[in-house]
Amino acid sequence: MREGLHKIVSSDETIVAISTPAGHSGIGVVRISGTESAAIARRFFRYQLEHRKATVGVWNDENGEEIDEVVVTLFAAPRSYTGEDVIEISAHGNPFALRRIVDAARTAGARIAAPGEFTLRAVAHGKMDLIQAEAVREFIEAQTQQQAKTALRQIEGGLSKRLRPIKSKLVDLIAHMEAGIDFAEDDVDVLPNASVTAQIRPLHDELNTLRQTFGYGKILTNGLRLAILGKPNVGKSSLFNRLVAADRAIVTEVAGTTRDVLTESISLDGVPLCFADTAGIRDTTDRVESIGVERTLETLAEADYALVVLDGSGVLDENDRQVLGRANDIPHAVVINKNDLPQRINIAELNGAPRVAVSAKTGEGLEYLVETLKSFLLVQKSDLSADLILTNTRQHEAISRSIDALDAAAEGLTAGVPHEMVLLDLYRALSALDELTGEVVTDDILDRIFSTFCIGK
Ligand code: GDP
Repeated sequence: MREGLHKIVSSDETIVAISTPAGHSGIGVVRISGTESAAIARRFFRYQLEHRKATVGVWNDENGEEIDEVVVTLFAAPRSYTGEDVIEISAHGNPFALRRIVDAARTAGARIAAPGEFTLRAVAHGKMDLIQAEAVREFIEAQTQQQAKTALRQIEGGLSKRLRPIKSKLVDLIAHMEAGIDFAEDDVDVLPNASVTAQIRPLHDELNTLRQTFGYGKILTNGLRLAILGKPNVGKSSLFNRLVAADRAIVTEVAGTTRDVLTESISLDGVPLCFADTAGIRDTTDRVESIGVERTLETLAEADYALVVLDGSGVLDENDRQVLGRANDIPHAVVINKNDLPQRINIAELNGAPRVAVSAKTGEGLEYLVETLKSFLLVQKSDLSADLILTNTRQHEAISRSIDALDAAAEGLTAGVPHEMVLLDLYRALSALDELTGEVVTDDILDRIFSTFCIGK
C-alpha cells in the first residue's frame, strides 16, 4: 500500500454502496469491496463465483428471504478496480431492492462507503495514482465530449507518464549532488554548478509547458466565461438570446430547464460556454444601472473573453469608448450589432480586436461570431503538447510549486550558495511532484479530492 494511505484506508473494513444513481432504472448496481466481499456474497448468493464471470441467481436477505434475481460478478484481488476483492451485483433498478441488498451486506459486517472510497482504495493499492483518481471524477462529471476525452486520457495515465521521466531525472540529479557532498573526501566529483543548472533547465521547461496547458484546461473544465459588455440598448440581451438559441449542442437537458441552466450548458466545440454576469444581461432595471465602469470591471474580472457590443446604427460615444478601453485588459472581440439598419458607426475609431458585424434581430453574421470564439479557443489549444492538459487547480498549484523550487535552486547556484542549500530546493521540487501523483499524500489533499466524489465510485 502507498505510503501515508495505510493510515486512512483500512482494508479490514469491507465497504458497500449503490453505484448507480438514485431512483428507478433498468438495472442498479451494488458494489462491495474488501476482504469480506466474497464471504458476504457466499452468504446471500448461494452460487459458485469465478473471477470475472457473471453468475445469475437469487440474492437473499439476512433471513434467507429472496430480494431479487441478480447478476453477480466477482473481481478477485488484486485484479479489480480497488485492488481488493470486489463483488458487483447488478439487480433490477428498484431503489428498495438495492437498499435491501446493501442492508443485508451491512448485517454481514460491511459498512457504507464514503464518497469516492472505492477509488481511494484503488489509489491505496497502487491501481492508479491521484491524478488518475481525479480524472475518474472529472470523467463522471464531464458535460461535453471534449471534457470526457481529456479526462479519459488522464485516467489512462497520460499525465502521470509524462511526469515520470521528469521525476526520475530530478531524483538522479539529487542523488548525484548528495554523493558529491557525502563523499567529498573520497574524491567523488562534485558536480560543477553549470552542469547542475544545465540539468535543471530542461526539467523546468518541461514543467512549464505542462503548466501552460492549465489556461485551456481551466476553460475546458469550467467553461469559457464570456462577458457581454456594452452600454444599454446596443443589443446585448438580444445577442445573448441568439447565441443560446443558435446552439444545438445543449448537453444537459434538465426537465423544466431554466434559462440559468441553459446558459451554463452551451457547448462550443466541446467547451462549455458560460456567461459572466447573466443576471445583469437579463435584469432590465439592473441593466440601466449597469452602465458604470465599476460594473463592467466586475464582469471583466470573472471573464476569459469579452464581447463588446456596439450599436452599428449609431455613432460611438463616450460610454462606448469607456467600455472598449476596459475590455483591452482581456481577450475580446468587438461585435457591431444592428447590421440590418443603416450603419453610421465609424470603424476607423476601433482598436485592433477582431470585429464582427451581426444583427441580433435577423441572426445575420452570427456564424462569424461563433467562428471568432472558436478561433480564440483554438489559439489556446494550439499551445498544448500531446493533448495533455492540467485540468484542475490542485495540479496547477503542485506544478507551480515545483517550478518555483527549481527556480530557487537555479538562483541559488548562480549566487554560489552551497549545494546543501540547493538540494533543499530540489527536494521541494520533487515533493511537489510527489504530491501531484500521490506518492506523498496528506489527509488534506485526499479530502479535497475525494469529498467531491459520488458515493459508490
Ligand atoms: P441591451 O440593453 O444591450 O441588452 O439591448 P437589447 O437586447 O435589450 O436591445 C435593445 C433594443 O434594440 C431592443 O428594442 C431590440 O429589439 C433592439 N435590437 C437589438 N438587436 C437589434 C438588431 O440587430 N437590429 C435591430 N434593428 N434592433 C435590434
